[in-house]
Amino acid sequence: MRLFFHGGCGDSCCLRIQDLCIQIGGSVILKDVNFYVHCGEMVALIGPNGAGKSTLLKAILGHQDYDGVIAFSTPGQRERKPRIGYVPQSPTFDPGDPLSVADLFACCMSRRPNFLGISKAMREKILDCLDRVHATDLVDKRVGTLSGGELQRVLLALALEPLPNILILDEPLSGVDVEGMGTLMDMLDEIRKTYDLSILMITHDFSTLERYADQVVLIDHAVLKQGTPAEVLQSEEFRCAFHMRGGDQE
Ligand code: ADP
Ligand code: MG
Repeated sequence: MRLFFHGGCGDSCCLRIQDLCIQIGGSVILKDVNFYVHCGEMVALIGPNGAGKSTLLKAILGHQDYDGVIAFSTPGQRERKPRIGYVPQSPTFDPGDPLSVADLFACCMSRRPNFLGISKAMREKILDCLDRVHATDLVDKRVGTLSGGELQRVLLALALEPLPNILILDEPLSGVDVEGMGTLMDMLDEIRKTYDLSILMITHDFSTLERYADQVVLIDHAVLKQGTPAEVLQSEEFRCAFHMRGGDQE
């Protein structure tokens, strides 16, 4: 990964993916991928299952080898790598597991072993984090009993501490009901504006793209189409990638 700098981007993060190729075990997973995430933008990454979307996120996170360029611009932090907030694809927790939301945060944020209890100061900090996603009421709930939408909000709050330059989410809407999807997308939009973040998000929910995404990148081992939501959703490439004919799924 290398850093690059770009004028006029405010204190948020631009991401440049250039000529990116990834091979795993002799198979080409991604070939010649090029796109930008401009500062403050919400970019949606879409594509069929197995297209290489999650692998691309792993490369951005530094967990996957690649050829090509993944470059960040973080104005004001010239010597540092950008802070990346990551919300993984819906992890599962056992409803019987006695892990509360507060415990989960304390495990991630405190050096003190959890069995010694959570200090008053740490609990205040956890409540501040949950407040960013309007979820302070969830602090004492067991993680395994949260609804899909509640769990995503908690994971989002975790990814926002410390505040990142870019937020990366892998299918945050999977396992979330229709009402929860709207709430979560509104929240991401609010967070992006409040904290001046860039967001890169994998999604299969195309109905939210026109309202929330600035740019859509359609991937199937290579970039098939990129542009505004309307440009991508109305393209032949989109219909082919999802085996649709005349707008209807086969
Ligand atoms: P998507 O997120 O678009 O559904 P993935 O990025 O998870 O797709 O996977 C893309 C392809 O790469 C799949 O065929 C998958 O089997 C393969 N792949 C991903 N990670 C590995 C790995 N560690 N070892 C072997 N194959 C992998
Ligand atoms: Mg995936």
